[in-house]
Amino acid sequence: MILGTGGTIAGTAASADEAVGYQAAQLGVERLVAAVPPLAGLALECEQVAQLNSKDMTHAVWQRLAQRCAHHLARDDVAGVVVTHGTDTLEETAYFLHRVLAPAKPLVLTAAMRPATSMQADGPQNLLDAVTVARHGAALGWRGVMAVLAATVHAAVDVRKVHGWRLDAFDSGDAGPVGAVVAGALQRLRDVPTCAPVGLGAIARDVGQWPRVEVVASHAGASGRVVDALVADGVDGLVVAATGFGDVHAEVLAALERARARGVAVAIATRCAYGPVIDAATRAVDARTPWQMRIDLLLERLRAG
Ligand code: ASP
Repeated sequence: MILGTGGTIAGTAASADEAVGYQAAQLGVERLVAAVPPLAGLALECEQVAQLNSKDMTHAVWQRLAQRCAHHLARDDVAGVVVTHGTDTLEETAYFLHRVLAPAKPLVLTAAMRPATSMQADGPQNLLDAVTVARHGAALGWRGVMAVLAATVHAAVDVRKVHGWRLDAFDSGDAGPVGAVVAGALQRLRDVPTCAPVGLGAIARDVGQWPRVEVVASHAGASGRVVDALVADGVDGLVVAATGFGDVHAEVLAALERARARGVAVAIATRCAYGPVIDAATRAVDARTPWQMRIDLLLERLRAG
């Protein structure tokens, strides 16, 4: 099952050498599949769940996408699901689906760094590789949410976009990828981490009623006024993109204390690309990115009602 949501993989430009000035989310998912000759003849179905530039991803699309993924994954005649997506927020959608569904079959996101009209279009190969993982990943023990880009297979808990323009723009942080697709063959390095899913019931509420969880940053010259303003504006949760292994500017810390006193949930992640938050007292580590922590806080608050 191939679910389309838009992105550069479905993007078009006026000329084949245009890699920056293009429109994302122009081609339907069936056109993307038709552009990959080796997919012809496979038992594939397509569904257009959304058509957007993923920089504009919404909770409403996430809700619908999770529901459609769950529907198709529950079908006996479906081995796995592929989602075509934009690269900008792919890691957030992957983590959201992981935390909500943690499916027992492969659910594979893929994307492209060049539009479909580019001489360097990477979408067709990425889509083919993603379908290969969706069809054959379970035989290697790969179940759950993954992302396949540039011949590399990432787990949803680890994948992140690390480059704005390169074709090989994703990595899996300190954990490293779970494997690769080498000339059509799967190479397994390790398992795909799983989790206890929160389930579709937790996200069934109208998205207009979902809690508000925002990300703020700790940085030189920070004043804490952003935190105060968000609390005054009724925010429900705050994630701080902290420095180093979890340090927060004294002014921001003071504002966070005021926020906590008003019942706002606060979580600390790091703005560093690599390395976890480390609790100085317990030595516990937490490798979640600020965007992952925002999703967890959101789901926690949704579950709390
Ligand atoms: N802005 C695009 C998107 O995320 C970028 C891409 O797909 O590469 O939809």
